[in-house]
Amino acid sequence: MPLVKCPGCGKRTEYLDNEFRPFCSERCKLLDFGDWADGKFALPAEPSSLTDEDIEAIERARSSGRAS
Ligand SMILES: [Zn+2]
Repeated sequence: MPLVKCPGCGKRTEYLDNEFRPFCSERCKLLDFGDWADGKFALPAEPSSLTDEDIEAIERARSSGRAS
C-alpha cells in the first residue's frame, strides 16, 4: 500500500482507501486550512467526534473571520 506523509502532522498514512488523503484524518485536513483554529476554535481530540454540524461551524468560522 502506498503511504503518504500527512501534511498536517507528518504521520505516514495510507493513501488508498483514505477519504481524507493526503491527510491522515479529518482533523488534519481541517487544520491545514490555516492557523485560524489556534485559540479560536477548539477542535475535539478525536477526529471521529466531528459531526457534520461541527464541520459546518468550522467552515463558517473560516469564511467569516480569518485573522492570520
Ligand atoms: Zn495528520
